[in-house]
Amino acid sequence: MQTWSSVSVPRVPGTPCPLRLFDTATGQIRPTAPGATAGMYVCGITPYDATHLGHAATYLAFDLVYRLWLDAGHEVHYVQNVTDIDDPLIERAQRDQDDWVVLGLRETALFREDMEALRVLPPRELIGAVESMPQIVEVVGKLLVNGAAYRADDPEYPDIYFDHRATGRFGYESNYDAQTMATLFGERGGDPERPGKRHPLDALLWRMARDGEPSWESELGTGRPGWHIECSVIARERLGHAFDVQGGGSDLIFPHHEFSAAHAEALTGQHPFARHYTHAGMIGLNGEKMSKSKGNLVFVSRLRADGVDSAAVRVGLLAGHYRQDRSWTPQLLAEAQARLARWREAASLDAGPRADDTVRRLREHLADDLDTPAALAAVDAWAGEALTRSGTDRDAPELMTAAVDGLLGLRLRS
Ligand code: ZN
Repeated sequence: MQTWSSVSVPRVPGTPCPLRLFDTATGQIRPTAPGATAGMYVCGITPYDATHLGHAATYLAFDLVYRLWLDAGHEVHYVQNVTDIDDPLIERAQRDQDDWVVLGLRETALFREDMEALRVLPPRELIGAVESMPQIVEVVGKLLVNGAAYRADDPEYPDIYFDHRATGRFGYESNYDAQTMATLFGERGGDPERPGKRHPLDALLWRMARDGEPSWESELGTGRPGWHIECSVIARERLGHAFDVQGGGSDLIFPHHEFSAAHAEALTGQHPFARHYTHAGMIGLNGEKMSKSKGNLVFVSRLRADGVDSAAVRVGLLAGHYRQDRSWTPQLLAEAQARLARWREAASLDAGPRADDTVRRLREHLADDLDTPAALAAVDAWAGEALTRSGTDRDAPELMTAAVDGLLGLRLRS
């Protein structure tokens, strides 16, 4: 499907830093080691509702990964999916007496607008589950043949499940114990109680058609895919095996990323699916977890409609470390707006203090597992000095403008 419009990324003078990133599978901050082209897959939205600040924070974190790789001279092959068929979409469409296709198109269009407003670099490929149906069917068929998948013991609905023990490595990505897996599987879309499965933890690959649900004819029988197989197939098809980074929010660590890796590895026998599994923390509101059940989601489009500068939203979200669960508050937004105003004022000066060292530190902090609090503090220090002592380096404001744009995605001058 159509991706969103790109923004130009200025070249930043100086020496780039190779990016080190936390990897959930090994529990360590490790160097990313992309070749000429870095491959990144970040799980996309299920378009039943608008983009909230939790989504935005996740896509901003991986936008920085993208920018640091670009800075280091790599091409970036970035792929994202849109889960344009799944239970939440069908349920919302039924609740609102909406057409699930129209709902999905409408929310995907709004998501693109939000990403453009936040100056998130677009994926090279934005791929829907629906358009990937033939590939998904083919892979599920192969998993049935090689014994990693089986049909539920249910004559009416012989849905296809993945035997989570198929690879012998299940659990390597999340490192969760059996009890945690069992709990999270039930909480996050799994069906542990479903009769006819070999094991409660086995995940759905293909759901046979039910009355009133969208379905696709296929050699597996008419039905629709499970969620994990969609990302597994799209990522492997576009990026191959052992691509550089599989990303998403921390609520995707299990079961989603564990299973998408296991599906691909059971198909090919190759390990690992991705070299880094990297996850962004959750965003709460005023100290409470933001969730649709609590009705306290803050939508990017709502902030935009209220006239909030999207650059301030970006600054506010980058003010905390991407892996930390953190809270969005009116005070955080006010601080971000004030910070951005100071930076813009400093960047508009004819001269400032020398900025080479600030740019070096900015790069070092970002390359150290995206330490944005330290990176933003480095910009603060330069701007503070520029505004109070008015340095004499006539190139400094321009250099800082390029660095803050290229590395943090923020425009200081119009
Ligand atoms: Zn995914």
